[in-house]
Amino acid sequence: MKIYAIYGAGGFGGQVYSFLKLNKSIDFSQTLIYFIDDNFHAEYLFNRPILSYKEFLKLDASEKYVNVAIANSKIREKINHQLMEDAIPTFQVISDNSVILSDITKSSGLIASPFSIISSNVEIGDSCHIGFHTSISHDCKIGNYVTFATGARCNGNVFIEDHAYVGSGAVVKNGNSERPLIIGKGAIIGMGAVVTKDVPAGITVVGNPAKILIK
Ligand code: UDP
Repeated sequence: MKIYAIYGAGGFGGQVYSFLKLNKSIDFSQTLIYFIDDNFHAEYLFNRPILSYKEFLKLDASEKYVNVAIANSKIREKINHQLMEDAIPTFQVISDNSVILSDITKSSGLIASPFSIISSNVEIGDSCHIGFHTSISHDCKIGNYVTFATGARCNGNVFIEDHAYVGSGAVVKNGNSERPLIIGKGAIIGMGAVVTKDVPAGITVVGNPAKILIK
């Protein structure tokens, strides 16, 4: 038996399970699905057992894989480091109706939600989350632990650095092959923002055209 565990039995983890179980490429007669959660007190979510990480490590199976389905990217990174230390491989959750036109085989732990589109010549790092109806156009480079909320639109030739967050319905203008548009490390793009130029690392932008949010 092969085991797939979704790390995080919260709202997002439950959602990811809901489309993972529709995946036609998985032989569910040979695959058991669990949740892992460090703080959960229920025993089951959607009738699947919720284990502590320690309990998961003790499970006896020929193959065990984990996908970290926790929205907070810093927590994702911490858990991914732990998985690496324990030599537990990750698996991807790619919805059957996502349209993927690039090689994403090296994008460890990727989640591509239903109706997402990843166009041609796109590179994606580790543990990125791509929400429902998100599109990433051609020639984009996406770092590690990047999150796209529902309906984000990233046009062509955009580079998005590690831990950036693109809010629901945000639109990112295209760059070009000589001068990509850059969203810096850990930047946050507010929902519905229209980003027309680079966003520096660690900065939050909102509005149309997107401007720096002064708190
Ligand atoms: N969680 C965890 N380990 C951590 C941090 C969080 O297992 O180090 C779990 C937490 O207990 C919760 C889930 O991750 O069940 C996050 O769920 P939440 O609904 O807060 O956010 P989501 O990421 O699902 O939007």
